[in-house]
Formats: sequence, C-alpha cells, structure tokens
Amino acid sequence: MSKFEDKYYLFANWKMYLDLAESVNLATALKKEEAGFADKVKMVLFPSALAMNEVAKVMRGAVTAVGAQNVHWVDKGGYTGEVSAPMCAAAGSQYALVGHSERRHLFHETNHEVRQKIEAVLGAGLTPVLCAGERTEERDAGKTLEAVEIQLRAAFDGLTWPAGRELIVAYEPVWAIGTGNACDPAEAEKAHKYINDLMGELMPGIIPVLLYGGSVRPNNVADYLRQEHVQGVLVGGASAKLESWVEIVKVCTM
Ligand code: PEP
Repeated sequence: MSKFEDKYYLFANWKMYLDLAESVNLATALKKEEAGFADKVKMVLFPSALAMNEVAKVMRGAVTAVGAQNVHWVDKGGYTGEVSAPMCAAAGSQYALVGHSERRHLFHETNHEVRQKIEAVLGAGLTPVLCAGERTEERDAGKTLEAVEIQLRAAFDGLTWPAGRELIVAYEPVWAIGTGNACDPAEAEKAHKYINDLMGELMPGIIPVLLYGGSVRPNNVADYLRQEHVQGVLVGGASAKLESWVEIVKVCTM
C-alpha cells in the first residue's frame, strides 16, 4: 500500500513499441483488470499518437487515463509530422510527457523547446510530466544534480502553475533508460530529494509528484517505491507487455 495518502503513480510509456491493434488490445486487457487496482494506483497510458484516440475510447468510463508522448508547442500550423497539445486533448489525452530523454537526445530537443512545450501543454488543459535526467558523462563527472537542476530551472522558468494542476517530474537517468541498467534506489532517492527541494524554490506552495524512470521491472519496482520521495514510476519496455505490467501493478497493490 502506498506510503503516500494519495495513490502510487504508474505511468506507461509505450514509446514506438505497439501498433494500433496492439495498443487497443493492451488497453482493453488493462481495463478488465482495473477494478483490482483502481483504488491504489493512478495509471496513465502513453500510446503512440496514432493510437491515442482509440486507447482513449477504450478507457472511456475507466479511471485509467491517457497521455501524449510528445507535443509541438504551436497549436496549429505548417509543422509536418507534428501533433499539438490541443489536438491531443481533443483525442482524449489528459497528460503529456515533455522532455523525455529520447526526445532530447535522439531528436535534439532543447531546454527552450521543453519550456515552450510545457506552456503549450498547460494551455491545452493537460498535465505535463516533465522528464529530466543526467547523461553518463555527467554522472561520471559527478554532475548529476547539476545537470538535472539546469533542466528543471529551464523547464519551469517564469511559469505560473494553474491552480489545481498536478506538478509531475520524472527523474530518468539517461543511462538507465531502456538499458536494463537500473539506477541504485538510494542514488535515485538522492536525486528525488534534490528535485523535491528545488521544486519548492521554483514553484513554492505546490507539492510535486516525483516519479522514477529507467529500467523499472517487476523485481525492482518496490525498491524505488520504498524511497521517501518516490511516489511512482514511469516505465517504458516493461509497460508495453501485459504480463510484466500487471506484475508491476501487483507489487504496488500488495
Ligand atoms: C522511459 O521510456 O521513460 C523508460 C523509463 O524506459 P525503460 O523503462 O524501458 O527504461
């Protein structure tokens, strides 16, 4: 059971792993399981943009929510291949990942763009999930906290947070994402505590929800959730398969 008054947050980033049919199948299977976890877990599914609308239809009337993996910061225009935050809202999304390390590093997304995306997401009435984390070189140089702080300061610079909107930050060490090389839970907690304190300065009066992400599996999820400042997990690979995701959910509901 959660040590927080609220529920554990289990966020599933399906990345580009599942096509439309596979996404609908997984969402349908999870909806059937929902009664067993809905009072203990807050689940959000992040399907591909292509599957978002159909997954949201499956989840109509359910408590499991849907989110976007990425948005553009402009609402409408000549941006071939992009989708905007209002489009995702209209397709049934309530959340959006912003600044995922695969966006930052594979698609060269900058801190400035991340800041613009957060504003666009808030403007569309969605809840952003800001992802931040250090690269291997930064960790090796002892600059983990510094790297995360730069990303957070840039992301929230000058923003007024809408009343009642959740403030969610996922600490995701880049070297742990999709590698099977999970971060030591105590090391993750150190970063979470730092982020918690920094958010107190950047967004005074708002209690942030902090998630850990990076090679979370059924056999290590409890080690993260035991940490004082970790309220949930953002999971990639293990969330895109029913068996491993249900195993993770079980750990959180025991
Ligand atoms: C992610 O995509 O945010 C992630 C943490 O991936 P994985 O769980 O596969 O490491």
